[in-house]
Amino acid sequence: MSRRDLLLYLRDLGVEEVLLAEKQRVAPPGDPLACPDLDTMAQALASCQRCRLWKGRTQVVFGVGNPRARVVFVGEAPGAEEDRQGEPFVGRAGQLLNAMLRACGLSRQEVYIANVVKCRPPGNRDPEDDEAASCLPFLRRQLALIGPEVVVLLGRVAARHLLGITAPISSYRGRFRRWEGMDVLPTFHPAYLLRNPQAKRESWEDLKLLRRRLATSAGEAQGSGPGGMV
Ligand code: URA
Repeated sequence: MSRRDLLLYLRDLGVEEVLLAEKQRVAPPGDPLACPDLDTMAQALASCQRCRLWKGRTQVVFGVGNPRARVVFVGEAPGAEEDRQGEPFVGRAGQLLNAMLRACGLSRQEVYIANVVKCRPPGNRDPEDDEAASCLPFLRRQLALIGPEVVVLLGRVAARHLLGITAPISSYRGRFRRWEGMDVLPTFHPAYLLRNPQAKRESWEDLKLLRRRLATSAGEAQGSGPGGMV
């Protein structure tokens, strides 16, 4: 019996209202971009072989943190320790990132941390353009699922692949810009700060900018800010 015939039959029986169950959205198996949440997406990507980096990795380093984070930090690629532990920024640069977060009044648990590429490039070289291009749709999808207020780009590699900027990061860091409907703040990579501690002063200026931005939007959300309801 067709759906129409069934409805007519039910009407004849005196049924006046029929509630139709919403069709369950089921991601095609194996397509990480169709996954409805970060956990299923991470599972779907775990065996990724879309670029050559899978050959040298221990595991895919998907990302970590709050799936509803207000801020997402994007680095370049996992290093040796990240590859071993399966979590971004857990090595020396990660320790410094944690300190930077604390300085902003943020914890690792409340933000989200990911990289441009999810597998470790051999010898910690920069990701190649084609490797970044294969992986970027997954970062975009992560960002779409999280919906952060701010994306902080850590270092020139993240800025190059997301914003397409090849100039030295010192010439454009510390200024918010719009990217694909999001507010993005490029700043120095923590590994760069370990090698160039004199840049920590500018990095701190960038973090204060981030902190002010988050405080302003939190104030607006509570109705005390300029755009909020009084
Ligand atoms: N550097 C990065 O860019 N990402 C990491 O996860 C670790 C170090």
